[in-house]
Amino acid sequence: MDKIIVKQRTFFKEGHTKSYAFRKQQLLKLYTAIENREKEIKEALKLDLNKSSFEAYSTEIGFTLHSISHALKYLKKWMKTQKVKTPYYHGFTKSYKRFEPKGNILIIGPYNYPFQLVIEPLIGAIAAGNTVILKPSEFSSHTEKVIEQLISDTFDPQYVHVICGGVETTQSLLNHRFDHIFFTGSPRVGKFVHQAAAKHLTPVTLELGGKSPAIIDETAKLKTAAKRIAFGKFLNAGQTCIAPDYLFVHESIKVEFLEILKATLDDFYTFEADHYPKIINDKHFDRITALIDPDKVIYGNKTDKSKRLITPTILHNITVDDPIMQEEIFGPLLPVISFTDLAFVEDYLKNQESPLALYMFSESKDNTQKIFDNVQFGGGAINDTITHVANPYLPFGGVGNSGFGNYHGHASFITFSYQKSFVKKSTFIDPNVTYPPYDKKEKLVRKIFK
Ligand code: NAD
Repeated sequence: MDKIIVKQRTFFKEGHTKSYAFRKQQLLKLYTAIENREKEIKEALKLDLNKSSFEAYSTEIGFTLHSISHALKYLKKWMKTQKVKTPYYHGFTKSYKRFEPKGNILIIGPYNYPFQLVIEPLIGAIAAGNTVILKPSEFSSHTEKVIEQLISDTFDPQYVHVICGGVETTQSLLNHRFDHIFFTGSPRVGKFVHQAAAKHLTPVTLELGGKSPAIIDETAKLKTAAKRIAFGKFLNAGQTCIAPDYLFVHESIKVEFLEILKATLDDFYTFEADHYPKIINDKHFDRITALIDPDKVIYGNKTDKSKRLITPTILHNITVDDPIMQEEIFGPLLPVISFTDLAFVEDYLKNQESPLALYMFSESKDNTQKIFDNVQFGGGAINDTITHVANPYLPFGGVGNSGFGNYHGHASFITFSYQKSFVKKSTFIDPNVTYPPYDKKEKLVRKIFK
């Protein structure tokens, strides 16, 4: 670990990673490497999480291939030195800014989208001209191995390298000095990462989780809402950081909506075919099933520990004080709370930790505005769930307890760069307004700064 970090620092300082040609070539290499290993990546995701071919391609493989294409399309533009305005009092001066690579990057990933969530930041780090150490999650061990093989077959370790291991490995990595740490995971571990980074004054991006609400008011189109909520919630068996964690449903449409939601789930999933994603490990299986109050279940709740399968489950008559409302569920359980006054929802959300996502299903501009303008959240959607994550033109990140910093598309490039600002001054003339002796010059400076 020590040797590789030193080598990466040297490789960066020697300037190999900076040119447009180099970055472009590496992105193309990564694209081909992913394309060529589609089958292995899918097999690993099947073994780790029982992901279907569709989910594996759309949320992990195709997702990252599209991001590489996007970066390749804009990289030259992003790298351009930009001229900015210069105040008149600088005299004959021009001002510029340029995004420069930060140096050696550490990327730490979680288990739920184990491929996408290390490769997506890697694309940004390469585009920005850095060297990179990747630490995939040890829980999704098959995908971890495929990533290790893919990267070692594609890149020189002094440029991009994978380090595998558990908590101790991550902790030793965090004792080293990096120029940026990009962490995706829980708020609990995010705090350790932030603390470790502070010792070296290393900037961090924390992509964390939390309880993301979906609100369905009395004006919502219920059939559409049911489909879009079922999709976003039960994708990857609820192990999605931006899945709607729970629902606020207006009392007047609650019964009708829940009937439609149940029918939608009947249409969406059959469990005989063994296509539904599984929970990552026994610890999480036990944690999630312990959150199920059987008296409140109105749909689902079929569990099989040998397969780590929990079917989509709806729980009703939930109150904000129930145990299921005290932590991020990160599994296929959907608690439903009813409300009669949107002010209650607004007030509740304002007093919770700011979520990573928020979804509002409504045909009322006023209701939507009330929530979207007054509640803090990282990203979200009106009349949809989770699709904002798949728009490379939108920065993706949290706020408060759901993290800070952001990435995707241009935002990734900015995250892994710093802005170098400089002026170029003419030597043709050299007025002595700012040079000592100052004597009566303050009067003139006062006029200029007015
Ligand atoms: P986690 O925080 O347990 O683990 C993430 C990474 O941190 C892993 O690589 C792990 O090896 C490492 N780690 C674990 N404990 C550590 C410790 N004590 N010290 C140092 N490193 C340690 O997260 P997880 O369980 O893999 O993922 C689930 C969480 O991630 C949820 O909270 C979810 O919302 C969040 N998440 C967020 C996003 C996002 O984009 N914001 C995406 C996916 C998941």
